[in-house]
Amino acid sequence: MSDSTPRRTRFWHPFSNMVEVAADEVVFDHGEGAWLWDEAGRRYLDATAALWYCNVGHGRRELAEAAATQMVRLAACSNFGQLANRPALDLADRIAALAPIEDAAVFFTSGGSESVDTAVKMVRRYWTVCGQPERQMIVVREGAYHGMAGYGTSLAGIEGNYQGFGELLPGVVRVPADDAAALARVFHEHRGRLAAFFGEPVIGAGGVRPPVEGYWTEVARLCREFDVLLAVDEVVTGFGRLGEWFGSRRFGLKPDLITAAKGVTSGYAPLGVVICGPRIQEPFWHGNAGLFRHGYTYSAHPTACAVGLANLKIVESERLIERVRSLIPVLAREVERLARRSSVAQVRTAGLLAGIELDPVLLQTPGFADRVVKEARERGVLTRALVGKALQISPPFVISEEQIRLLVDTLEAALDAGSAWAAQQPPAA
Ligand code: PLP
Repeated sequence: MSDSTPRRTRFWHPFSNMVEVAADEVVFDHGEGAWLWDEAGRRYLDATAALWYCNVGHGRRELAEAAATQMVRLAACSNFGQLANRPALDLADRIAALAPIEDAAVFFTSGGSESVDTAVKMVRRYWTVCGQPERQMIVVREGAYHGMAGYGTSLAGIEGNYQGFGELLPGVVRVPADDAAALARVFHEHRGRLAAFFGEPVIGAGGVRPPVEGYWTEVARLCREFDVLLAVDEVVTGFGRLGEWFGSRRFGLKPDLITAAKGVTSGYAPLGVVICGPRIQEPFWHGNAGLFRHGYTYSAHPTACAVGLANLKIVESERLIERVRSLIPVLAREVERLARRSSVAQVRTAGLLAGIELDPVLLQTPGFADRVVKEARERGVLTRALVGKALQISPPFVISEEQIRLLVDTLEAALDAGSAWAAQQPPAA
């Protein structure tokens, strides 16, 4: 960089192309409910609840107070070996009571990626200590997102997220997302060598893709038949997004493990969990597995756990899951309006989630999806383009029906402005 180049920022934004972003930052200042304000005083409706997590909405003083109280008392401590803290013990009890797993144990991490990596290590270690070390392979779905840490990157089903990083974890098999027959073939082919199947109840970052009817029932049946562990990644769907505490319940699943994060604190503190059933616990809690050589500096962080407890209390006392259930048909009805636009190829919904897939012809104009996102932002709605082609809608649970209508009205205008922009672009070479 020459000396004359103005340096606008030193902040290397995650998931960004700094060539485009460095001179064009949106700097948030504060938030309340479903609204965010930037430093210039512009207001935005947060259509995505930040990164799928701000379920109780922005600006919750109760959560700030829970953090402050805990920080003054005991901000952080080691939780390795015999050490523990009260918020972690209480939150583990609370999550175990809510989870669709009998007699669950809860392992804490700092977020979804660490939860996925922890779950992979747990299932591989499980089979090793059970005397079947040849069971190491993991089956995942195309389009899946399982975080950005080492194992999660290896498990990714979105090509761009796992390509270009050199050699990753061997023994990962990808299957088409909704094809139970393909899964059965993989289970047959690798019989006795599979450790686990990992999947999101509804594919999130891959474009908001609900499963086809009966898919999860068949996955669960195959896992039982071939004795493959079932790990359900509920980082997006956990803690209410599908109108149940866990998406697994919606699909009648009894997983061996659940990974979750985001909604456990609504993002007010970084926290993730792996919820483990009795089978996984057995060798570690009752058998001779010995020391599980895994854990993070911030595993069971007392401040994060105190925020988690306070957040779950809000979800319960304000009956936010019931609220999600009542908003699901409203969102579905409103986004259906978008399906009628020529710029939209398909609208998909599941719980309080929607993916607005853009027209493939318009997507041939480079930058079309980003343009629509920008047009929405300029009109006061924050969304983003999942896998470069589907607009994400995953609002805070506290969003009102009127705000949902405003959100969709604004997306209509943004889609029209984006289409008009695309019409003016030179044809692709
Ligand atoms: N798993 C799923 C299904 C996710 O959607 C995400 C993040 O969006 C992750 C894992 C990773 O979580 P984090 O970004 O908190 O590390």
